[in-house]
Amino acid sequence: MEPALRTELAVVGVRTASPLRRRAGAGPSDDGHWRLAGGGGCPAAALPLSADSPYEVMEDGRITKDGVVVEDAMLEPIDRPAFYDLVTDDGIPYEKLARLHGTNVLATTVVQTCIRYTSESTRCRFCTIEESLRAGATTQVKFPDQLAEVADAAVRLDGVEHMVMTTGTSNGRDRGAKHLARCVRAVKERVPGIRIQVQIEPPLDLSYIASLRDAGAEAIGIHIESLDQAVRERWTPGKATVPVSRYEEAWQEAVRVFGRNRVSTYLLVGLGEDPDELVAGCERLIGMGVYPFVVPYRPLDGSLANDVDRVPAPDPSLLLSVSMRIAAALDVAGMRGADQGAGCAACGACSALQELGG
Ligand code: SF4
Repeated sequence: MEPALRTELAVVGVRTASPLRRRAGAGPSDDGHWRLAGGGGCPAAALPLSADSPYEVMEDGRITKDGVVVEDAMLEPIDRPAFYDLVTDDGIPYEKLARLHGTNVLATTVVQTCIRYTSESTRCRFCTIEESLRAGATTQVKFPDQLAEVADAAVRLDGVEHMVMTTGTSNGRDRGAKHLARCVRAVKERVPGIRIQVQIEPPLDLSYIASLRDAGAEAIGIHIESLDQAVRERWTPGKATVPVSRYEEAWQEAVRVFGRNRVSTYLLVGLGEDPDELVAGCERLIGMGVYPFVVPYRPLDGSLANDVDRVPAPDPSLLLSVSMRIAAALDVAGMRGADQGAGCAACGACSALQELGG
């Protein structure tokens, strides 16, 4: 698919009834999951479902814009996975414990509450982590044996190959790493072949990063969302109390423990950051061995940015130009998302970087 179209779809979304839709949660949500027909860098795309989008996906996978067929663009919906129909011994549907992302990723939020979310003065303004809990779509805490059971089924029945485990931030010194490590260990014991990425804020004690690697995780995401302190204070006021320099220490420790290009960070396009500074910051990250996973900001129902601030999605041309420049820097450094082994950068469905060669 043409990069310009890929980035436009990532921002304006598509109209259709997609079988795989997440209403809310950590990470980009309210999206449909698709297989990109015709190959390309990334096999999957997570696109917002929007009734206002000029793009419509037809039953045969062709895309129309304002009713006119777009040439050379096909999207195939990803089927509802079989493991969604199973239930744990204690009666919890697997679907409430973990979800299929892209084509082959199992994703879960091991603790669905966050110390940053309790007050509007500390909550990340794009986040909806506790909304899916309020809606009854998930459980507050996923237990290690539950996740091992779900992962086993997802690998056997649906061809899942890797797993993303994220968490809301706890108030302990580990910031949630201890529970994550227990979950990783249990899944690896039951399904040794699955690859796992963990996602976490910098722990107050950085030795917890090694404990996640020791538990069996292959990759780690330590997500800052913006490198611009003024933007951070506006968009992620709670997390902004952790200085960028502390993130740098955590990334360095993570690269030491997990290796180069096994560490990533989410960066959102559309928060008002200067594009040149964003690209320069990403180049610094790449130099450290950290993959900058650049995705568009998405206005999600239930988030402060959408419901209160009414911030629209970014201009697709901004996303395209920034993604192209960062993909070029990744190419020069020989860093590819797929080489992360597990997690969001390996999946790539939420970003245009893999399509552009990153
Ligand atoms: S990139 Fe990450 S959040 Fe997006 S679909 Fe893939 S695993 Fe899920």
